[in-house]
Amino acid sequence: MKDIQIYKRDDLKQKPLQDHLEFGQIFTDHMFLLDYNLDQGWHDARIVPYGPIVLDPAAMVLHYGQAVFEGMKAFLAKDDQILLFRPNKNMERFNQSNNRLEIPEIDEDFILHAIQTLVNIEKEWIPSGKGTSLYIRPFIIATEPCLGVRAAHNYQLLVILSPVGAYYSEGLEPVKINVESSYARAVRGGLGTAKAAGNYAASIKAQTEAKEAGYSQVLWLDALERKYIEEVGSMNIFFKIDGKVITPELNGSILAGVTRDSIIELLQSWGIPVEERRISMEEVFEAYNNHTLEEVFGTGTAAVISPVGELFWNEKQVLINEGQIGKLSQQLYDTITGIQTGFIPDTLQWTVQV
Ligand SMILES: *Cc1c(COP(=O)(O)O)cnc(C)c1O
Repeated sequence: MKDIQIYKRDDLKQKPLQDHLEFGQIFTDHMFLLDYNLDQGWHDARIVPYGPIVLDPAAMVLHYGQAVFEGMKAFLAKDDQILLFRPNKNMERFNQSNNRLEIPEIDEDFILHAIQTLVNIEKEWIPSGKGTSLYIRPFIIATEPCLGVRAAHNYQLLVILSPVGAYYSEGLEPVKINVESSYARAVRGGLGTAKAAGNYAASIKAQTEAKEAGYSQVLWLDALERKYIEEVGSMNIFFKIDGKVITPELNGSILAGVTRDSIIELLQSWGIPVEERRISMEEVFEAYNNHTLEEVFGTGTAAVISPVGELFWNEKQVLINEGQIGKLSQQLYDTITGIQTGFIPDTLQWTVQV
């Protein structure tokens, strides 16, 4: 398994124009594949031309949803270096997701090596514009043809790459968010702590309804009491109240974001008080009424920081910082993107060269 076979295509695709890159629409020339069976474990590592895969219609992933994924980025950084941001955290979380879904563990170092090899082959695809990157999507699916409900005996791990444009074309634009009161994304003991495909299936209806009502995302509350804040869309969430930064604690139904972890470390290193604890919508609304709600922002690999300009909760509008991006949100965004692209010294040793 330690060797990666490389089968290159010679009819390379046309690369897209950089200023019209929509998220996750275009894929590079090659992909990485790795198979699993009970006899050989993970085996047959290969990089092949990007294209459709063959699945048996009875493949278990299609029926019972045994599928996990990761999301990370490669940046064309200062001095033409290619940098990954904390990729070991993604590999670690990949295995945590595998564990929760009874998918066999992967060799984290080997998969990171495979990702580096693939990114290196596809380096011409990494866009160079400000805010652009090559999005990396590793994922695992259960491929065994069987309609019995149990852990599959066969899996495939794939890595595909997609060049992505700047998330914000003209500065960080605050978004309007609907606080969801009927649907739930995840419950403690469920799949919320895993990056499992099924979590997204659970979220789409609420997302569609929020969009129709003019909101760009959904803020999820805890599924039991409908009181405590969990996360927003595919991002973790932070509140700056009266000089302190508060983010929901990892309670068993929230995904542990790599960006979330990085923000907490940065704030601590800057001496800004940060609390990981339960926080209710009531508390946020009260802070709003007392004029102590200073900033709200989501965090995730895709946007890094997504400032929130408005929350809609129980027929009430909560306006944040007059719909403008907050100072701290901007500073966090500039720092993380600066580290990712090599323009700010990486004192915390977060970047890994390809
Ligand atoms: C991926 C994801 C996040 C953000 O995690 P990052 O590692 O920061 O990209 C947050 N919430 C959910 C549900 C996610 O799937």
